[in-house]
Amino acid sequence: MTTVATDYEVVIGLEVHAQLLTRSKMFCGCSAEYSAAPPNTHVCPVCLGMPGVLPVINRRAVELTIMTALALDCEIPEQSKFDRKNYHYPDLMKGYQVSQYDLPLSRDGWLTIETEEGERRVGVTRVHLEEDTARLTHVDGPDGSFSLVDVNRSGVPLMEIVSEPDMRSPEEARLYLVKLRQVLRYAGVSLANMEEGNFRCDANVSLRPRGSSSLGVKVEVKNMNSFRSVQRALEYEVERQTRLLDGGEAVVQETRGWVESEGKTVSQRSKEYAHDYRYFPEPDLPPMQVNRELVSRLRAALPELPDEKRRRFEEAYGLTRYEAELLVESRARADYHEAAVAASGLRGDARLQRAKQVANWMLGDMARLQNAQNVDIEAVRIQPEQLGQLVAMVEGGQITGRSAKAVFERMWREGRSPHEIVAEEGLAQISGVDELRGIVERVIAASDRAVADYRAGKTEAVQFLVGQVMKQTKGRANPGTVRDLLLEILQNG
Ligand code: ADP
Ligand code: ZN
Ligand code: MG
Repeated sequence: MTTVATDYEVVIGLEVHAQLLTRSKMFCGCSAEYSAAPPNTHVCPVCLGMPGVLPVINRRAVELTIMTALALDCEIPEQSKFDRKNYHYPDLMKGYQVSQYDLPLSRDGWLTIETEEGERRVGVTRVHLEEDTARLTHVDGPDGSFSLVDVNRSGVPLMEIVSEPDMRSPEEARLYLVKLRQVLRYAGVSLANMEEGNFRCDANVSLRPRGSSSLGVKVEVKNMNSFRSVQRALEYEVERQTRLLDGGEAVVQETRGWVESEGKTVSQRSKEYAHDYRYFPEPDLPPMQVNRELVSRLRAALPELPDEKRRRFEEAYGLTRYEAELLVESRARADYHEAAVAASGLRGDARLQRAKQVANWMLGDMARLQNAQNVDIEAVRIQPEQLGQLVAMVEGGQITGRSAKAVFERMWREGRSPHEIVAEEGLAQISGVDELRGIVERVIAASDRAVADYRAGKTEAVQFLVGQVMKQTKGRANPGTVRDLLLEILQNG
């Protein structure tokens, strides 16, 4: 008897928590800045969970959540409310977390990702609002281990974005996170930085026989602190679950933690111990009526989002989809490109030509230097107008493409205009035939061997001579002109 390993389909759904860019906390006036402040300095009776205090809803947090939901094409119901999610853990001051249960601020949206098979929509179940918990630091001391509690983070506005189980591989999960982070940053609602902890992801993953339409038993994985860890943790889980199922065992529904240093997940708690949160409406906060006027105002306030911008870049600047995608990676990068092109004042084909050249520099030499030296586009010293000028100088034949590379490197280091650098270095292209003739004649006189080869019919020898002239002129000569001149002199000589 032979057994045939089943072909499984991977099913992944992600829950992302993003810290909103508000100045104050969710229900009190304390500063929402928690990472730089000394522990337990941004606190008050409300976020410390004292009895008898009354929370007040942070309006800005509600607005930022609705903006996010609109950016993800969600519906915004007119009624919404906060609920208490009850559980006991030392990071929870009140014994419950204020969150949203059955009436979230939004539902039923989607996010488009670009997979190998093309564009696909990942469903967004809901975007809702809740408060963050305190931060625990575990300490192993000589007299045993203990935890320190920092309440600064308690009550900081958190937005939760729950996806449908629509991703089919760990790679797709990573693509979803990259795209979601991009949308949150474009919309200006969160810094969305996973390493800094203001963008966190819990990943749910299950397997099912390919072709099946019911969902398999899922495992929730936590503790990943980079997109790469999310992908690795999911890859590990897919393998682990495949092995279990192939061996005739069942997957246990549980929460597992990713252990980065060991590259594996370990069980944290199984379903038997799963919490019953006993959700009930928060009695201290009034239900929210989300009026349509506010929704339209927030919709109008949304900036152009990545997909729209990418399409516009393809059309307006004649760029490929790939180039446009790279340029709109961040708003700042897209703005840089547009500023460099706009500074030219060009129209029509000349503008397209300029846009292409600017893109080539940005995605080539500039990206290379940015990566090597870890420089964000905001910190690049070359001003967009200066990059435009450099491109114009090459187009106009004032410098050669080869010189332009050297000029670019100096612009990168010194932040000076290309005109200044070209003048100072004497890099202006030598295109005057008279100026070149002398150099060409000297090269011919000093290259007996190549000249003899040429006369013996080896035409490649010309290429060698062109190279010699380029060397003599430090790349400032126009290679086409040099070649013509060489042939003219050799044929007449
Ligand atoms: P829970 O009740 O455990 O919180 P939810 O139904 O609220 O589960 O879903 C939480 C997340 O898990 C969502 O992102 C959802 O898409 C995802 N999910 C739910 N069931 C599965 C499954 N069988 N496989 C993978 N992901 C799942
Ligand atoms: Zn407070
Ligand atoms: Mg849930």
